Amino acid sequence: MSQHPQPSSAPPASHHDGSRPYEGLRLMHVHAHPDDESSKGAASTARYVDQGAQVHVVTCTGGERGSILNPKMERPDILANITEVRRQEMERARDILGITQHWLGFVDSGWPDGDPKPPLPEGCFALAPMEESVEALVRIIRQVRPHVLTTYDERGGYPHPDHVRCHEVSVAAFEAAGDAGRFPDAGEPWQPLKLYYHHSFNRPRMEALHAAMQAHGLESPWEERLKTWKPEPEWDARITTKVECGAYFGVRDQALLAHATQIDPDGHWFAIPRELQVEVWPTEDYELVVSHIASTTPEDDLFAGIEAPGGTL
Ligand SMILES: [Zn+2]
Repeated sequence: MSQHPQPSSAPPASHHDGSRPYEGLRLMHVHAHPDDESSKGAASTARYVDQGAQVHVVTCTGGERGSILNPKMERPDILANITEVRRQEMERARDILGITQHWLGFVDSGWPDGDPKPPLPEGCFALAPMEESVEALVRIIRQVRPHVLTTYDERGGYPHPDHVRCHEVSVAAFEAAGDAGRFPDAGEPWQPLKLYYHHSFNRPRMEALHAAMQAHGLESPWEERLKTWKPEPEWDARITTKVECGAYFGVRDQALLAHATQIDPDGHWFAIPRELQVEVWPTEDYELVVSHIASTTPEDDLFAGIEAPGGTL
């Protein structure tokens, strides 16, 4: 495990003193591809790491079929070694975020391009038998023993077959990990206490950032996207938990940039000045889906209601 990254500005007001109130607590994010840990929940990850929690990422696939999204990296030497390149990118992001990580070991299903969509490639994650994938994740959950687990919503956050599968496998593993009757060869049962879905890429946030860009006379990257994104108030109302993490947006951006083949430094990720993001939407947003402890929503902490071994939060 690497050193903890330093936030680019002061930590949130509640813990100015460098204290580590989350010492002894563990958070696990299950993601589909390398780079998803940096594009979803990365600033809250950096905050929890800085404040003492252990954050562990499980990456279901190697990202072998991800297309190169940064024109500067569209080079033959990179294309020929994409699997290795993506592993190295993940290692850099891991160090920047201060996380530990497991590869679940499945092969990227790729984005099915075309109409009608082509069949998924043989042997890919989305086609692997559920029991096999769930057992692999249960084994890691029982080893790492997270108090909190996060994954994508039932739509996958976006409809990549690996993201939808990641959701299905994570929910099934959350249920099975604590059950001694399931996968008895995969370790001692461990029941994570809370299950969350990521909701950070929500329409109200995009609207707020878009409006702020316009108010400052800047060109918003979201003009076109908002035109085609139908408002879904019931969907947005599912957000229960807003984690303050604006002070860690700089760490998030560094982790994103580590995925050089996937993230264009001149692209939409960095089109909105960071100070404006901190001012307008300083949180990452989640939905509490299952809780095995008493907790009330809305809340501002993924660990709310869970007692840290060193005392109360
Ligand atoms: Zn992905």
